Amino acid sequence: MKIILTLFLFTSALLNFGQSTDSIMNKEKSDQEWQNELSQEQYQILRQCGTEPAFTGKYYKHKKEGSYHCAACGKVLFSSETKYDSGSGWPSFYAAADKKNITEIIDKSHGIIRTEIKCAHCGSHLGHIFPDGPKPSGMRYCVNSVSLEFKKTESKPGDNQE
Ligand SMILES: [Zn+2]
Repeated sequence: MKIILTLFLFTSALLNFGQSTDSIMNKEKSDQEWQNELSQEQYQILRQCGTEPAFTGKYYKHKKEGSYHCAACGKVLFSSETKYDSGSGWPSFYAAADKKNITEIIDKSHGIIRTEIKCAHCGSHLGHIFPDGPKPSGMRYCVNSVSLEFKKTESKPGDNQE
């Protein structure tokens, strides 16, 4: 009886293990899924840490009021209120809309140490962050236009329309 019980516990532990690995796998999209969902340009930058050429991005000179979302998953990343012209050739922000939505990772590629920024929700590459931004933060979030999706502010604060 004891052996049967042990076997039963062992088997159910194995089954549970299998289930939890599956649910983790389901949250993260496969490389193939990303390739199907994104344009080739988006895939190269968002999923393979590419960089769009400077001064070419659609949001580099973009000045409309609204919010900038992750182009891969739609999570809000930046507000137009913190966007400024850094002269770098890429959309630049001095603060994140919500710091929780952006992951910072030390990047030692190309022989230089930089801090890479990724969407905390889906892990897509956004750009880099540098400590040479304007006040009050002193930070510069240097982001690829391709990594962003702009949404215009529809209603003014005080309106209760959804
Ligand atoms: Zn995302």
